[in-house]
Amino acid sequence: MIIGIDDTDSRSDGGCTTYIAAVLVEKLEKYGDLVDYPLLIRLNPNIRYKTRGNGAVAINMEIDGASEEDEVKEVVLDEVRLQSKLSDENTNPGVVFLDDATSDMRNNLKSFSRRAMQDILRIKDAKDLLNRYNIDFCGFKNGRGLIGALAAAAVASNGIPDHTFEAITYRMPVSIGTPRVVDAESIRDADMRTYPRTWDTVDIKNKAVVCVPRGRDPVLFGIRGEVGGVIDALEHIRSERVERVILFKTNQGTDMHLIRSTIDRTRGGRSYILRGMVSSAPRTIHGGHVIFEITDPQSGSRIDCAAFEPTKNFRGIIRQLAVGDRVVVCGSVDDGTVHLEKIKIEHLTTLYEIKNPVCACGRRMKSAGSEQGYRCKRCKTTSLVPDRVPIKRSLEYGWYEVPPSARRHIAKPLVRCAVGSYPVHPDR
Ligand code: ATP
Repeated sequence: MIIGIDDTDSRSDGGCTTYIAAVLVEKLEKYGDLVDYPLLIRLNPNIRYKTRGNGAVAINMEIDGASEEDEVKEVVLDEVRLQSKLSDENTNPGVVFLDDATSDMRNNLKSFSRRAMQDILRIKDAKDLLNRYNIDFCGFKNGRGLIGALAAAAVASNGIPDHTFEAITYRMPVSIGTPRVVDAESIRDADMRTYPRTWDTVDIKNKAVVCVPRGRDPVLFGIRGEVGGVIDALEHIRSERVERVILFKTNQGTDMHLIRSTIDRTRGGRSYILRGMVSSAPRTIHGGHVIFEITDPQSGSRIDCAAFEPTKNFRGIIRQLAVGDRVVVCGSVDDGTVHLEKIKIEHLTTLYEIKNPVCACGRRMKSAGSEQGYRCKRCKTTSLVPDRVPIKRSLEYGWYEVPPSARRHIAKPLVRCAVGSYPVHPDR
């Protein structure tokens, strides 16, 4: 049985769907074995209903006896009822129980989960699929959580094409709401020992600890990476008492939200990989955001790209772009602007500095007066044409990314990207 759960927490009241999964893994132990790690699936990061990272969870288990299935469902629903912040109007839990899937059902579930990561779905889309295949579910209030619950269950059923891991530690219930006590030095030490098998633990350039959240939720810290790295890192972190730890398999760090497309086909609320030529020089606007425009040379369509203030040092890369550079940008589109997550610099145009010409004697000529060209003081040679001297560009080809403190959970960090024909410049 695959159990999918989503939308149980609240921005003001706390809670966390991953915590429910962690408690359930323990409570369901007596009914059978896990088939795989519990799954934490990040869906379209642009959904306005999300509390934080638009995550949903799935638990895939082999139940010992068919007679116990109903009991398992009751345990799950009781836990969701108990822990969901139902008084928050934005909390609409969904729980899905998925049994064997036919290949037709699998294909439809696969496409549903892909759309949940890349597109915007309606509650009806989830309910139609649930009813069509007679899948057992329970939607609380308006049941919006069924979208995420079904998407996570669908990924568990089909297998995940690319994955990473996250170990999440949870606070003792009495500590929730008080400042988190995690030794920052031990976090930096864990990062030094395990990077690049772990990532996004700290943001070295911006002197920030990234793995410890803020807010009222029960998460103490989360370590992302490959399974071995994550386990090694956990051993080095000193903190307040931890109630429990869970290791999730996840689509974090995979770029599964990105759609390869062209500028003219973009729609708000989706995230894209777009190729274009820089057609307006980067400019810094109020608030420190850096904006430039790219154009598709084939269709002539244009779109603004933004490196927002929280992307910090990444803006320094963007400011060096020049009209004529060819790039590939990755990020979500909102209000006709790409919110940059990554950029690939494919071609750097040659920029020139205009200088007075050099005389045959080797000296640089002086201006001969307004609109009268140039003259060598010594030889009296003249010239009307200035020199165009190529400027050495300080940018390098390849991929650049926003720093860990500005990175989306689902975005693939460059440390995971194999070096192909273009170099990668991971930021940490
Ligand atoms: P947390 O990470 O703490 O679990 P969250 O950020 O995941 O919180 P939710 O509370 O789960 O946010 O709210 C997201 C809501 O959006 C859920 O109801 C989910 O079913 C729904 N949703 C997820 N993906 C999509 C999508 N692609 N289209 C429409 N709705 C979606």
